[in-house]
Amino acid sequence: MTARLLIVGPQGSGKGTQGVRIAEAFGIPAISTGDIFRANISEGTELGVKVKAIIDSGDLVSDEVTSELVRDRLAQDDAAQGFLLDGYPRNVAQVGHLDEFLAGRGEALDVVIELDVPREESISRIAQRAAEQGRDDDNEEAIARRLDIYERETAPILDVFRERGIVAPVDGVGSLDEITERIIAALEARGIERVAV
Ligand code: AMP
Repeated sequence: MTARLLIVGPQGSGKGTQGVRIAEAFGIPAISTGDIFRANISEGTELGVKVKAIIDSGDLVSDEVTSELVRDRLAQDDAAQGFLLDGYPRNVAQVGHLDEFLAGRGEALDVVIELDVPREESISRIAQRAAEQGRDDDNEEAIARRLDIYERETAPILDVFRERGIVAPVDGVGSLDEITERIIAALEARGIERVAV
C-alpha cells in the first residue's frame, strides 16, 4: 500500500497545518516546499540567499530550482512508500516535472486533496497568521500577489488531476479537528491506508 498525496488550497486555507496532521495519521513525511525554502533562508544557505527576495515579494521560485529540491527530498528513504506534498507542484510545468520523476520510479500520485476555503476566509486567516508569526511574505502586497498566482497558475493544476480522477474535494471551513477528520475520511474512502514502516 502506498500513500502518495498532494494537498492543494489557497494561501490561508490551512493546508500546511492539515498537511502535517494528515502525514502523521498516515505515517508518511509531510514535504512542504515553502517550509524547506524558509529553513534555508533562516540557516543562510546558498539556496536561502538565492531565493529570499523572490519569496519575500510573493513571486514563485523557478521551476527548475524547486523541482530539483523536491526530487532530492523524494529520493530520501522515508518517502519510498508515501509522502504528502504541500506547495508543490504549484503550476502545470511542475506537474510535468513531478510526473516524470515519479514515472521514472514506476510511481504516481494517488490522491490530490483539494481544500476548499472561500477567498474572504483565507485572507482573514493570512492576516491572523501575519500578526502571530510575522512572516516576511505576509505583507499586503505579497499576499495579493500570492493569491493572484494561486488563481492563475495553481488552480489550473486541479483540472489536470480532475481529469485523472484523483481529486478529493474537502470543505476547509470548520475546526481544525473537523477538517482533519474530513480529509482522513476522504482518503480512506479512496483506499488510502496507513503506510507500514
Ligand atoms: P508556501 O509556504 O507554500 O506559501 O510558500 C512560500 C513561498 O515559497 C511561495 O510564495 C514561493 O515564493 C515559494 N514556493 C513554495 N513552493 C513553491 C513552488 N512549488 N514553486 C515555486 N515557488 C515556491
